[in-house]
Amino acid sequence: AKLEDFRNEPFTDFRQKSALLAMEEAIFRMKSEELGREIPLRIGGRDIFTDAKIRSINPGNLDETIGWVSKADRELAEQAMQAALDTFESWKKVTPRERAQYLLKAAALMTERKHEFSAMMVLEAGKNYAEADADTAEAIDFLNFYAREMIRLSEINETMPLTPVPGEHNRLTYIPLGVGVIIPPWNFPLAICVGMTSAAIVAGNTVLLKPASNTPVIAYKFATLMEEVGLPAGVLNFIPGSGAEVGDYLTTHPKTRFVSFTGSKEVGLRISKLAAETASGQIWIKRLVAEMGGKDGIVVDETADLDAAAQAIVASAFGYQGQKCSAGSRALIVESVHDEVVEKVVRFTKQLEIGLPEENKAVGPVIDEASFRKILDYIEIGKQEGQLLVGGRQAEGNGYYIEPTVFADVDGKARIMQEEIFGPVLAIGKAKDWREAIAMYNDTEFGLTGAFFSREEDRIGEALETMHCGNLYINRKCTGALVGAHPFGGFNLSGTDSKAGGYDYLLLFTQAKLTSRKL
Ligand code: NAP
Repeated sequence: AKLEDFRNEPFTDFRQKSALLAMEEAIFRMKSEELGREIPLRIGGRDIFTDAKIRSINPGNLDETIGWVSKADRELAEQAMQAALDTFESWKKVTPRERAQYLLKAAALMTERKHEFSAMMVLEAGKNYAEADADTAEAIDFLNFYAREMIRLSEINETMPLTPVPGEHNRLTYIPLGVGVIIPPWNFPLAICVGMTSAAIVAGNTVLLKPASNTPVIAYKFATLMEEVGLPAGVLNFIPGSGAEVGDYLTTHPKTRFVSFTGSKEVGLRISKLAAETASGQIWIKRLVAEMGGKDGIVVDETADLDAAAQAIVASAFGYQGQKCSAGSRALIVESVHDEVVEKVVRFTKQLEIGLPEENKAVGPVIDEASFRKILDYIEIGKQEGQLLVGGRQAEGNGYYIEPTVFADVDGKARIMQEEIFGPVLAIGKAKDWREAIAMYNDTEFGLTGAFFSREEDRIGEALETMHCGNLYINRKCTGALVGAHPFGGFNLSGTDSKAGGYDYLLLFTQAKLTSRKL
């Protein structure tokens, strides 16, 4: 049967009582049935329990253990590598269409059980209902999108024929690379983990999935879902463990063919350096896909809808506590409307309720103690660099709660304007005109997302050209990219310019083989 065209999974409308109840019920069920379990590694389809464990906790309620997760060391990572190498020999022969079927089945099952996945993220990652629901919807989208993309790539000779040459039959085939190491972050613990893993798998590779240590339990739910749909053992090997130990070991391993990483600039650059060295016995140049941090921002000119701009600034800065790579942690506002926009931003920020994600408060905890300390340190720096207008302190609760914090009068070169804080801290800068505001926006080593608010067509046209980032939005917030519609990934130190959820993403996990046959 012909596959229907790709459509984004709709978001759940939590203004409806029935949707709220369904989520509450799923949270209750996760708490009574799944929290606190011992979670194994999965290597070649086998469970492996280790003595050393990662304790995954609820960042909004530190007494709640989400799971005790077994932890790979080098020896287990090596076992996983061998399982993935063995399985690659059979998996690479499975047809693209058949490989795509596993993703489609997983998407269908995840859609049926979506609140269950979202509930686990409410508890493990500190997301409120809408944030968790969007994360699950994006995961479903990646599965549905990459399945279709693999089928399209496998039929590329029909849609993009090679130039005909008399007396020859020519074909281009996208074949897999080999064993890949998949290293996702904790901030989209389902969507990004699913997207990175499923893209590599559907392209015919086998993988070692090392989930982020803050969110291994939701990653395990995905790994078991893939087994439920019958993915052959050894295609997806699940090996939680320390990034520093297991990560370095696998990045430098001679049999690693590619590394797909999403996370911080520091770790991404380390992997880039280590992966560039050729290990003894290695017969390829490792491919690296590294998606890294951002210092994203919103520019507002004096013709803009100021209410809409202020709302977008607040949503982009504080959605999921500012812990998105696309978070709008900077706002650059033209002088003549600066005070008015700032007044609105402060007003909207004060309306945000802080509290437990399972009670669906607007602002929840940040992910862990290290982040919590780092963000509070940046707030102290901000007090030297700008004028604190709202927030600035730790908030109540048995978790890592921090008040949404706004600084104004921040210089473009200030640290809180330049460095990724990855928390609920917004720096506002004043520009004499819209061109200066764009120049301030561009003054960064990153280049992930940005937004421009204006009613002037000419200015919009110029902004579209001059704002240098991978995902640029006009008159809307800079977060919330949709698979297929807004292929996602940034410039400069935001990464290797890949576009997750886009039409060229799978090429990164394949190599093209040309065959020419004399007739
Ligand atoms: P992180 O600290 O860099 O960690 C990311 C992953 O790398 C984790 O699984 C981590 O494992 C692992 N890791 C740590 N050290 C490693 C090493 N030496 N070798 C291999 N892997 C290693 O980042 P994060 O805090 O999870 O995520 C937040 C960052 O991700 C932010 O900078 C954000 O902007 C960025 N991000 C970017 C995008 C994008 O598309 N551009 C999307 C989302 C997030 P452990 O957990 O065990 O340390």
